[in-house]
Amino acid sequence: MNDCLFCKIIAGEIPSSKVYEDDQVFAFRDINPQAPVHVLVVPKEHISSLNEVTAENAGAAAACLRAIPAIAAAEGLADGYRVITNCGADAGQTVMHLHFHLIGGRKLGEKIV
Ligand code: 5GP
Ligand code: ZN
Repeated sequence: MNDCLFCKIIAGEIPSSKVYEDDQVFAFRDINPQAPVHVLVVPKEHISSLNEVTAENAGAAAACLRAIPAIAAAEGLADGYRVITNCGADAGQTVMHLHFHLIGGRKLGEKIV
């Protein structure tokens, strides 16, 4: 996926502030943070969005979820955090590489669910 911004970040072709990496997962700070901690957790395998998760690649998506508690703990989010994935136009997805926003570090308001 030559044209994908997050694939380029994972490959190190575009610089990012990395906070975590394992064989399946890459996590880095959002360039436009919405809270004191705003990390993007992405699978190294290119998956365009939650809509493209299949039986074959679900392990890569699940690896992101498995990594999140450890990332949250390392970021000092002992009092809680929020995880969001935007899927598609109505949700405002702007980068078509599956990513989980890990947000915290302050009292989060405006719950929509
Ligand atoms: P979405 O709107 O697709 O759910 O989230 C995309 C996120 O990627 C946004 O929060 C945006 O700030 C972040 N983002 C866009 N371009 C870059 C970049 O070049 N580097 C980093 N670290 N984050 C980016
Ligand atoms: Zn990608």
